[in-house]
Amino acid sequence: AGGPEAGEAGEAVQTLRRVFGYDAFRGDQEEIIEQVIGGGDAVVLMPTGGGKSLCYQIPSLVRPGVGVVISPLIALMQDQVDALRALGVRAGFLNSTQDFEERRLVEAEFLAGELDLLYLAPERLRVEQTVQLLDRGKISLFAIDEAHCVAQWGHDFRPDYLMLSMLHDRWPDVPRIALTATATKATHEEITSRLRMDGARHFVASFDRPNIQYRIAAKSEPKRQLLELLRSEHAGDAGIVYCLSRASVEKTAQFLVDNGIAAVPYHAGLDARVRAANQSRFLREDGLVVVATIAFGMGIDKPDVRFVAHLDLPKSVEGYYQETGRAGRDGQPSTAWLAYGLQDVVQQRKMIDGSEGDDAHRRRLAAHLDAMLAMCETVECRRVRLLAYFDQESGPCGNCDTCLTPPQTWDGTVSAQKLLSTVVRLKRERGQKFGAGQIIDILLGRKTAKVIQFDHDGLSVFGIGEDLREADWRGVVRQLLAQGLLAVEGDYGTLVLTDSSGEVLRGQRQVPMRREPEKAARAAKAKS
Ligand code: ADP
Ligand code: ZN
Repeated sequence: AGGPEAGEAGEAVQTLRRVFGYDAFRGDQEEIIEQVIGGGDAVVLMPTGGGKSLCYQIPSLVRPGVGVVISPLIALMQDQVDALRALGVRAGFLNSTQDFEERRLVEAEFLAGELDLLYLAPERLRVEQTVQLLDRGKISLFAIDEAHCVAQWGHDFRPDYLMLSMLHDRWPDVPRIALTATATKATHEEITSRLRMDGARHFVASFDRPNIQYRIAAKSEPKRQLLELLRSEHAGDAGIVYCLSRASVEKTAQFLVDNGIAAVPYHAGLDARVRAANQSRFLREDGLVVVATIAFGMGIDKPDVRFVAHLDLPKSVEGYYQETGRAGRDGQPSTAWLAYGLQDVVQQRKMIDGSEGDDAHRRRLAAHLDAMLAMCETVECRRVRLLAYFDQESGPCGNCDTCLTPPQTWDGTVSAQKLLSTVVRLKRERGQKFGAGQIIDILLGRKTAKVIQFDHDGLSVFGIGEDLREADWRGVVRQLLAQGLLAVEGDYGTLVLTDSSGEVLRGQRQVPMRREPEKAARAAKAKS
């Protein structure tokens, strides 16, 4: 039954069954595939594990010619091509890891029409030879994977992606499909305009990953906290642990190994062979933990990653979403756990202040960080906040820490006033700058060497905060930062007032706060 349209859809489904061995399309796959088979452009926003690959693989098989896939993930091309070849799909790739002879072979296959899919690193298009090669073959479509890399203010900008607007100029009749797993409204718009996809149809799937349980804990002893999580909930499970620095990657991996957990490090400073070996062990072995910087993970297709743990604060909500999204691609229950503390904020501010680029760039980075902080300190459902960041609405999920154990809130207005007035007092001491540590010592009435050195025990605010514990005060600082009522600047994490601080000091604004959990408070106390 049906006209030509039904016939085309039939061909897509047949290909799905015959080549990939699946029964039916999921979500928007079928509509997306029909759009591209019909010669139209598509912009696809779909979460990790949603099934983006088939959206260009099937049209490449159905349409005459070769589907050209632009991907920044050079390290994965070999694996992707091998997997396709195992299914009988004629696939090849061109990137900088190949020697002349290997490249020539692929080029010959392309020209002879012996390929269904050709994976291409974006920087290849800078080479005129590549462009001429593409001109001489028949192209069925362009797929632009990880399309958010074109967004200049996004978290993963790649300059080579800017060139991709040339695809439309040079091959106006070839349909294009841009795909990404993370995009705020702004990034989505940037993808559309920079890639000149004005006439495209847009497919925005729900970004919700219901099987991922989001949890954010106060950081006290991060490695110990991680170990407890792995032992109590994820014994023998595969997972990824993200750390900010290479040094902490190494230390954390060693710590896990010392405690009987199979773990390997992964960061850009490791020898390429070690890195490749660790990545392939992670993909092939059961229950291995990779401790990594964010250099690890994009495009990694391991379905049974049971947890993603962050020992340091991600730089943006987009990054957090994308990194945690590597858990549970198989749909089984998985954990996204993040430990975060005041030191993270200080450290990241420092990195932003020292970063290259103009003020506007630094302001963007700061805005990303602020959104991430607000996510950490929210008393609302984490998922609601996360999806709201991507302009998607949802109700409380029942599967995040704030839903499962609703945080107690308290009226922190008076405490905020005490802390902010201490910051005001110290500001008057010219040339001297103090971070959270000194301010908390003053509030708690501690006569430390540094307190005595600066006569801070003589201040009227000395000891006015003895009603709270140190961990509570740290929580107060974090929440004031997250609410934009306090800011941190400079190398030493100096605390400074913001434009809104005055409202609190003058009693014009209430400051609701999230109570610090008893456990974190105890651990921080034991340490001090
Ligand atoms: P993404 O690129 O969006 O993260 P993938 O394309 O890697 O997702 O797909 C995720 C997993 O789901 C893969 O193992 C893929 O084979 C599988 N998959 C995709 N579409 C279907 C489908 N229609 N039916 C069954 N499995 C599918
Ligand atoms: Zn929730």
